[in-house]
Amino acid sequence: AFEAKGLDYRYLTIRVRQEDLPAAIQAVRAFGMRGINLTIPHKIAVIPLLDELSQAAEIIGAVNTVINENGRLIGENTDGKGMLVSFAENGCQVKDKHLVILGAGGAARAIAVEAALAGARKITVINRTVEKGRELAETITCRTGVEAQALPWTLGMPVPGDTDILVNGTSIGLYPDVGSRPEIDYNSITPRMVVSDVVFNDPNTRFLQAAAAQGAQTINGLGMLAQQGAVNFKLWTGVEAPLQIMEDTLKAEFGLD
Ligand code: NDP
Repeated sequence: AFEAKGLDYRYLTIRVRQEDLPAAIQAVRAFGMRGINLTIPHKIAVIPLLDELSQAAEIIGAVNTVINENGRLIGENTDGKGMLVSFAENGCQVKDKHLVILGAGGAARAIAVEAALAGARKITVINRTVEKGRELAETITCRTGVEAQALPWTLGMPVPGDTDILVNGTSIGLYPDVGSRPEIDYNSITPRMVVSDVVFNDPNTRFLQAAAAQGAQTINGLGMLAQQGAVNFKLWTGVEAPLQIMEDTLKAEFGLD
């Protein structure tokens, strides 16, 4: 993507042990890196090492992107933003909608918070560990003023009848667990709902297949992945990302051509 835009940047993957994170962040400063992405197990641990957080990263409580503004390290979280852009690309706006999310882990949290910040009417969190879902719902209401509730996940449960957007934010269906799908009552999905999945290794997960069979519009997780990369690209370079190239590269990477 950098090459396609004629930009003299490199994107490298570097393994950093947990105990080395402070030194790695110091290296970002010392080497004058423009930015980094972080993943497990560094997304929360990095926060005290940064100078500033975006509003979303602060509410989510996790950072996946850092931007180096002349030595000031700013933490951002682009996971949920990527999903919202992917929704918009597919003609789906979250404003005034009831978003129901399965899961309350990192990805679900980012999507739920961004949806609230973007003006969703209501957020429902359905999570196996109900306390985690409750904590997320309370954070959303408290920090954004948007109505949020948590429901315990009973196997085969229906989704709320007024659901507008349903998202699988769990890792169910993630490779190599590709034969699995969240245990909900798929008959409760209606054609007026938009259904999306964070799992990106399969553009047609069993979850999305079942939702499509009910007549719902489906949006896969590949769009979220490409779009969050595009958001990162813009934050670091100030230039619009070459999305088609990024999507094609991702598809090739996952053997989806
Ligand atoms: P976490 O480990 O933080 O969260 C996992 C969530 O899944 C938890 O809510 C967990 O519930 C739930 N879960 C896992 N297994 C089950 C199960 N068998 N039954 C019910 N609930 C289950 O992971 P992340 O949030 O970081 O990642 C989740 C998924 O999102 C992964 O597939 C990841 O690849 C994908 N992802 C996609 C992105 C994209 O751009 N498309 C970006 C980031 C992530 P509990 O709390 O009870 O443990």
